[in-house]
Amino acid sequence: MSSIDIFQGEAPSLESYWRSIILFGVNSASYKFALAQSVMNVAKNGSSMISLDDLALPYASHLCNHLKKSPKQITGRTGPFIKACVDFNNHTIGADELRIATLRHGFNCVLDAFHVVNREQIVVDFFQKDFHGTRKNIILTDAIHQLAVTDTFCNLQHETEARWRLVETAWEHGLNANLLGVKYDQNENLLFVDNYLQRKNITSARDALNGYQKGKCFYCFRDIDVDQHSVNACDVDHFYPHVLKPYINGANLDGIWNLVLSCKNCNRGADGKFAKVPSTKYVKRLHKRNEFLISSHHPLRETLMQQTGTTERQRIGFMKNIDTQAASYLIHRWEVQNVNPEIF
Ligand SMILES: [Zn+2]
Repeated sequence: MSSIDIFQGEAPSLESYWRSIILFGVNSASYKFALAQSVMNVAKNGSSMISLDDLALPYASHLCNHLKKSPKQITGRTGPFIKACVDFNNHTIGADELRIATLRHGFNCVLDAFHVVNREQIVVDFFQKDFHGTRKNIILTDAIHQLAVTDTFCNLQHETEARWRLVETAWEHGLNANLLGVKYDQNENLLFVDNYLQRKNITSARDALNGYQKGKCFYCFRDIDVDQHSVNACDVDHFYPHVLKPYINGANLDGIWNLVLSCKNCNRGADGKFAKVPSTKYVKRLHKRNEFLISSHHPLRETLMQQTGTTERQRIGFMKNIDTQAASYLIHRWEVQNVNPEIF
């Protein structure tokens, strides 16, 4: 069973299906993210149907906005749809022309490809096409409406945006080589790519990690919120505490491999972890998380492999080595009661 099967198998909730689309859908252009964002907005308004005509501009405007910051939104040749978005940004065409170009070229593959994960259609539909003659509508299903009223829906919007930014950044930098340089800034809580002289922030660490943690604390599974301004805002926790930085050989403790999202309670509450070493079950959980991101071709895959090893065997050796060193310095292991059932 691959890590992806485990991920879908353990919590086959609607959120999991949505995440599998966002995380594992193959992307040759970013249209899927734009469609996801615009369909989410329709769902949030409670509508159960929208015509392609009405969807065209909101959908295209997500792409227009991303094109302003990241010109590379497609891996192949730029087609007429992207060109229309660029022209719109440059004020050489108006909204109506953009709408017409979107209807003609923007929806061609993305509507059918949206629910394809691992080359197979997933069993849940978040929308369906209702095309007859000249009538072209999108029907939003109960599945997306159920999702839209959950607390995690807002997180899913953040995650979709985070994933989009990671993907476009990977394309812009020629995927593998340049993503090796993804680093974490603790003060700013940002992942960034060193682009020679200019540093480019790609996404908040919270948004990038939450895709795996599904809105739960890494340690106790309490619900957490990735929105930094919320009262339940989660912490980005160094699994092996950063006080170890001067002492640990062979590892960058600011690396994404060592970062998890935790509730404030676990990180720094009454019985919080602070600078203790997490117990062995959490070490296994962290390893599983990293293996999952690697096998799912997450844009951070190359970074994780660079930080921890190119084969799983090396990565297990790496974790054991760091764990032994960490425990020899900090001695005590820390553990907490689960607040909710384990889901990863
Ligand atoms: Zn917790």
